[in-house]
Amino acid sequence: MQQELDLFRRIADRLLTEEAREGAVKPIPAAELWDSLNLSLEADGLSESDFENLLTQVVLSTPRTATHKFFNQLFGGRTPKATLGDLLAVMLNNSMYTYKVAGPQVGVEKAIIKEIVKIIGYPSTADGTIASGGSMSNLIAMLMARDKKDPRARFEGSRKPLVAYTSAASHYSIAKNAAFLGIGRDYVRNIATDATGKMDPEALASQIEADKAAGLEPFFINGTAGTTVLGVFDPIEPLADVAQAHGLWLHIDGAYCGSVIFSKKYKHLVDGVHRADSFNLNAHKMMGTPLTCSIIVTQHKKHLADSLSNEAEYLYQTDGDDFNLGKTSLQCGRRNDALKFWSLWKAIGTKGLESMVDQQFALAETAVNYLRSNPDYTLYSDLPSISICFNYKDIPAKTLCTALYEQGELMVGFGSFEADTFVRMVTINAGNDHEHIHAFFKTLEDFVAKHQDRLKESVSV
Ligand SMILES: *Cc1c(COP(=O)(O)O)cnc(C)c1O
Repeated sequence: MQQELDLFRRIADRLLTEEAREGAVKPIPAAELWDSLNLSLEADGLSESDFENLLTQVVLSTPRTATHKFFNQLFGGRTPKATLGDLLAVMLNNSMYTYKVAGPQVGVEKAIIKEIVKIIGYPSTADGTIASGGSMSNLIAMLMARDKKDPRARFEGSRKPLVAYTSAASHYSIAKNAAFLGIGRDYVRNIATDATGKMDPEALASQIEADKAAGLEPFFINGTAGTTVLGVFDPIEPLADVAQAHGLWLHIDGAYCGSVIFSKKYKHLVDGVHRADSFNLNAHKMMGTPLTCSIIVTQHKKHLADSLSNEAEYLYQTDGDDFNLGKTSLQCGRRNDALKFWSLWKAIGTKGLESMVDQQFALAETAVNYLRSNPDYTLYSDLPSISICFNYKDIPAKTLCTALYEQGELMVGFGSFEADTFVRMVTINAGNDHEHIHAFFKTLEDFVAKHQDRLKESVSV
C-alpha cells in the first residue's frame, strides 16, 4: 500500500498545482470522451508507469469542484479537515451496520446526530441516521410518515389513499419518493408559493381540507429550508400549525440550507424546526464535507426503528440496538460518511461551522450588492439566500452558462422560477473570499465582451 500512497501523493500534488494554476478545466465534449481517454477495460493490466500516467490524466481532466471558479449546484470547495476524515474512512473501510465491525465509528456518527438533535431542540427520544444523500433522507422521512399513518403498510403494502404535500418549488425527490413508496406521484400536491418562492400555508390548509372532503388521507407535509433554485425558506411555524391541526407528519428538508442551525445569525430562518417530526441537512452542501453526507433526525426514535429495522441473526450478533446502526438505516452495508463531518466539526468546533455559514451569506451579500450597483444585471434573488439568481444583458441564461462551461471559464448553472430563467450562482463555498465573487463577475463580463455577438444569437461559441 505504501507505493499507492506515494502515487496518491504525486497525483494529488499535481491536481492541487493545476487547480491553483488554471482553475476550471476545459471539458471533454461527451461525444469525444471515449476517444480522448483510454477508459475501456481490458484483459491485461497496465504497467505501473502507464497506469500512473492514465490515472493522472483522468484526474486532471475531471471537472474541478474545489476551485474558485466553481459556482455550480450545490456544493463546492475542499475543506481540508473533512477531506482528511474521508480519506481515513476509506483506509479503515468499516461498514456502519454493527458495533462489531465499526467500533468507535458508531460513536462518531452518534455524536453528530446527538449534537444536531440538541441544537434544534428535539427531546431525548430523538434519534437519526446518515443516508446516502438528501433524496434518501427525504425518503426515510416519508417512509416513517407512511408507516405511522398506516402501520399495516410495512406488511401488507399500503391500501390507503395517502396524500403528501410539498411546495411547487421543492426538490424533485419528494415526487420520486412517493413513487418508490407506493403512494404515487399523482398523490403529491404541489402547493403554490408566494412571489418569493415560499410555500403558502393557507393554500396548504385548503388543499388538505379539499382532499379530506374527497375521502383521501393526508399524511405528510414537506417544508423546505433552502429551496433548490431560489434558496428560500418555507415558514415552518405556520406549516407546523397546519400539520398539528390535521395530525400530519411534518418533515423539513434542509438538504441545501438546513445547516443554518449552526449560526446564531441565521438560525431564525428555521424557527419552529423543533416542532417538525423530522429534519435533514446535507453536510456535503453548506458544510463543505465531501459527498455524500446527509443527516436525518427525527423526534420519534420508535418510528425510525419501526420503519427501518429487520431482524437478521446472521448480522446482529453482539451489542445492543443503539450500537448496531443497521437497525435504523436504509442500507445494509453502509460506508462511513460520519468521520469526515466529525473530523471537521471536532477540528473547528460548532463556532467554526457557524463561521462557514456566515461566510456564505456574507459572500451572497457581496454578490447582491454588486448586481444591484450594475444596471446590466437583472436580479431575481432576495437576501438572505445563498442562491444568487440573475441575468446579464438579456443573454439567455442557458446560452451563457453553457458557453462559460465549454470554454473552461466558469462552472455555473441556471434555474427557473415561474416565467423567468436565470443564472444561478451559489455562494456555498466558504473557502471563497469576497475577491472571488468579484472575479466571477469580471470573468463573466470579459467573456461576454469577447463573444457578445455570438451569445446574443444564442449560438454556442
Ligand atoms: C440537494 C437537495 C436535495 C437532494 O439531496 P441529494 O444529496 O442531492 O440527494 C433535496 N432537497 C433539497 C432542497 C436539495 O437542495
